[in-house]
Amino acid sequence: MTDCLFCKIVKGEIPSDRVHEDADVIAFRDIAPKAPTHILVIPRRHIPDAHALTDADGDILGKLFAAARRVADDAGLENGYRVVTNIGPESGQTVFHLHFHVLGGRPMSWPPG
Ligand code: 5GP
Ligand code: ZN
Repeated sequence: MTDCLFCKIVKGEIPSDRVHEDADVIAFRDIAPKAPTHILVIPRRHIPDAHALTDADGDILGKLFAAARRVADDAGLENGYRVVTNIGPESGQTVFHLHFHVLGGRPMSWPPG
């Protein structure tokens, strides 16, 4: 997707503060952090959101969650953290390339707003 912000971050056309990358996944710090640790974990391949996932995407989902675990461990989030993905405008999704927010470093309230 040529006009996708996160595809441009994957290609390095837009700079990001990367904390992890491998063949299929990158993770970078959110530009407007909502917690002391706020990292976005995304597939290199363009997938619009989690609603677009199918049975065929089990491999990339496992890799995304393995990367989330790794960045949480690297950030020292031993007291817990939250993994969030927004789907569609009403959820608050603003970038339509699948991403998991990894949030931690402060107590989280429930339910989310
Ligand atoms: P969403 O609202 O779609 O769930 O999450 C998109 C996230 O991307 C937001 O938390 C927003 O702060 C972050 N974001 C938007 N533009 C950029 C950018 O250019 N660089 C980085 N690192 N994060 C961005
Ligand atoms: Zn994209």
